[in-house]
Amino acid sequence: MTDIEARLDAYIEEHRERFLEELFVFLRQPSISTRDEGMGECAEMLAGLMRDVGIETRIIETPRHPIVYGEIFKDANAPTVLVYGHYDVQPPEPLDLWTSPPFEPEIRNGKIYGRGTSDNKAQIFVYVKTMEALRAVTGDVPLNIKFIYEGEEEIGSPNLEPFIRENKEMLKADLAYFSDSHIHESGRPIVILGLKGMLYVELTARGASTDQHSMRATGVPNAAWKLTWALNTLKAPDNKVAIPGFYDDVRPLTNLERDTVAQIPVDEKELLTYFGIDRFLPGRVQDGYYYNLVAEPTCNIAGLDSGYTGPGSKTVLPSVARAKIDMRLVPDQRPEDIMKKLRAHLDAEGYADIEIEEFNHLIPSRTPIDNPALPVIVGALRDSYGKEPIVFPNIGGAGPNYVFTDILEQPCFVVPHATHDQANHAPDESMDLEGFFNGIRTGVRIFPRLATALVRN
Ligand SMILES: [Zn+2]
Repeated sequence: MTDIEARLDAYIEEHRERFLEELFVFLRQPSISTRDEGMGECAEMLAGLMRDVGIETRIIETPRHPIVYGEIFKDANAPTVLVYGHYDVQPPEPLDLWTSPPFEPEIRNGKIYGRGTSDNKAQIFVYVKTMEALRAVTGDVPLNIKFIYEGEEEIGSPNLEPFIRENKEMLKADLAYFSDSHIHESGRPIVILGLKGMLYVELTARGASTDQHSMRATGVPNAAWKLTWALNTLKAPDNKVAIPGFYDDVRPLTNLERDTVAQIPVDEKELLTYFGIDRFLPGRVQDGYYYNLVAEPTCNIAGLDSGYTGPGSKTVLPSVARAKIDMRLVPDQRPEDIMKKLRAHLDAEGYADIEIEEFNHLIPSRTPIDNPALPVIVGALRDSYGKEPIVFPNIGGAGPNYVFTDILEQPCFVVPHATHDQANHAPDESMDLEGFFNGIRTGVRIFPRLATALVRN
């Protein structure tokens, strides 16, 4: 550890109580995006907290909830990091399942309990306090930093992509960086390099104009049969998706990515027990659980609905059947292309009359694993946690990181500081107390080290 890093750690330790008090004020302010509760107030409060530590901050309105945008400018030749996060939270209901009220943060068992603690307020406040510590101890933030803290993540970020497209010049940076999700169950920190994409559709098959008595099944088509026959053409028991061209654009993992996946700790027996199954699906790309989680796209039936599904029996011939399908995509698959292939496939199989409605889509992202910022981030995490970081070339979850990797053309690194038992979106959401401080300790290491490592020649 350098002398400066020791002084930064000491500063964080010395101001521990005040950092927590400030975080708690932020946590007490509700910011429930889906029902417009406290959003403007929370944006103002966050902007104030950012200005307090010398971040030049303004509130940028969108058609729904404002973006809190901040900048620290060092000089035109210094590297630039774009820090992203969100200040909105999920609704706290059901309230009776909370041990302490959701907007009255409380510390118990080494955790801060409250709505929005880990998702995402403590994890964005980390970077506000990182700036304070760097300024107080070194007199300077050694590179340019831009902050995008949005208020719509929990409702699907409808205005993030337009904002990014309209402000490409303002948002220019060498890399995008943010803290969300959680560290490994073992307590080892992680770096996530990519998220899967998504195509979520509903298929609707129709038969007669209304439900019929099932004695008419001798002559009247049944929508549920039509739908299940159509679903049967999407994927066979070998678990390969049967839509022609589905795998055409799958980017194979590089050797380094394969080696990295092989180092992700996994106990497959324990996982089988956890899921209550005897074995994983046959026919996947490889046998490794994480290899497939990282590398494989999916075509999943998320829900089925038709006819009578209540208790007891009812003889009915359904006129409508619906299936919800989510497909998790990997680079370089594109949702609109997969949508076209799905339509063409159903048409070719004789299901031109099955309707497809798209609910949402996301482009997959994966930052190249040989990016020079990665070893810097891994080193800073190793030093602040005292544990070896785990690198995920991507994870199974889907998310909008493509706005950074594809639209802004920046590598994107996700570095969580919450723990796996954070219960985000659920009652008793919590943020690990040491996770919060580990986040700041990591931050004060990463930015100065990036400033040196990424300096332009
Ligand atoms: Zn969330």
